[in-house]
Amino acid sequence: MTLPEHILQAFINAPGFDQTAFCRVHEEGGQVVSIRLNPTKFNDVAALSFNLGASVPWALQGYYLAERPIFTFEPLLHAGAFYVQEASSMFLEQAIRQCCDLSKGLTVLDLCAAPGGKSTHLLSLISAESVLVSNEVIRSRAAILEENLVKWGNTNSIVTNNDPRDFAALGGMFDVIVIDAPCSGSGMFRRDPESVHGWSVDLVNLCSQRQQRILADAWPALKEGGVLIYSTCSYSVEEDELIADWIAGQLDATTIPLNIDEGWNLVSSSGPVHKSAGYRFYPDKVKGEGFFLAAFRKNVNADMPRKNKSKPKWETVPKNIKEALRPWVNTENLTVINSNENLLALTAATEKCLLQLSSMYIRNAGINLGKWAGKDLVPGHAFALSHLTSSEIPVLSLDRETALNYLRKEEIDAGDMPKGWALVQFMGHSLGWIKQLGNRANNYYPKEWRILKPA
Ligand code: SAM
Repeated sequence: MTLPEHILQAFINAPGFDQTAFCRVHEEGGQVVSIRLNPTKFNDVAALSFNLGASVPWALQGYYLAERPIFTFEPLLHAGAFYVQEASSMFLEQAIRQCCDLSKGLTVLDLCAAPGGKSTHLLSLISAESVLVSNEVIRSRAAILEENLVKWGNTNSIVTNNDPRDFAALGGMFDVIVIDAPCSGSGMFRRDPESVHGWSVDLVNLCSQRQQRILADAWPALKEGGVLIYSTCSYSVEEDELIADWIAGQLDATTIPLNIDEGWNLVSSSGPVHKSAGYRFYPDKVKGEGFFLAAFRKNVNADMPRKNKSKPKWETVPKNIKEALRPWVNTENLTVINSNENLLALTAATEKCLLQLSSMYIRNAGINLGKWAGKDLVPGHAFALSHLTSSEIPVLSLDRETALNYLRKEEIDAGDMPKGWALVQFMGHSLGWIKQLGNRANNYYPKEWRILKPA
């Protein structure tokens, strides 16, 4: 791909921009493929049809792959045992590790979260006592976010579908806010050459204004002393250093410089007025795509967390119901709530956070264990993908081909399994439920998530 002159001219003054090397790497058009493992699920490289390559230097669970497999045909992707994520974006890990005390129970907001790369990463970094609220404003994208988070399988996660301005009304309730802002997307030119045609100076200006609006809207929701992490996949100074400086100046925040290994080859930059520290990733310098990140601490907050006077919209289930769930699930350290007939298992901190979010549109909270149908539980798909399933539940182990047929929602021969519900697994990784009826078994894989791609 040859980049047009007007685009190159726009980046000419960007810190660390090397036009010759930048053009060369785009002309070569190489593809960097990387994944991040789910430390609570992934347990066997033999369950993958590909080999893991070198580690991503700034992310403990990140790995490069020599080539791009057909990820759709990897059962472990559907089991939530790994996530396909661009390597540079995994740098979020350094910001979180260096700016936050991860041994504490933190309340974290990922404001622009779909499809869920940063959110799944955050869930692997924060403690079990912490809570992650993953928000996405666009409804169709919120559904994909929810799917990816259900697959990741955490009891301390909440998915919301709100406009950033709705968070301002909550007051300073978050210890950390991550804003991976919608941007002009130049950092993805190599990966998606078509996106070059949609790029313009006007788009950059529009994105820059939108970024300021999103930041200003969310700012009251950050606690005093809380951490803001701002990132884009744009090379434009207008969306990177100038926004970072705007945060330091207009929002009253202190820049947090990060410790960077020289061998990573990042470009450290500094805002023109407030000297806000920023970190740039160029594809001609790192094994990854274009990315920018800056971290800040909030100086003062006039907005205390709003006292929530509304009653919960759910009931905490009584002991006898928890007892009835015992053959299915060990809920000892969890709260189980009944929300519109759905039984949700979540941590105490997640329930508390949910109460504070009563004015928001909640898509999901904790693990949906399922619903009662009379005295029987119809188990939820999220439950299969969690760590809460009791070892007493029968398991049907499938080989790779049959596992893929299960994920296509085809009929599966359950052999002489006992009648009733069984977990379907591929090499120890749960994929979903079937119900053995005797002469046949019903496949309960969610229709909207099934594999459509032909073999
Ligand atoms: N953080 C995500 C990840 O790692 O997978 C990627 C986020 S993407 C760069 C930016 C997101 O912001 C998109 O999902 C987009 O739908 C959302 N978005 C678009 N306009 C927005 C707005 N006005 N306010 C908040 N979010 C917006």
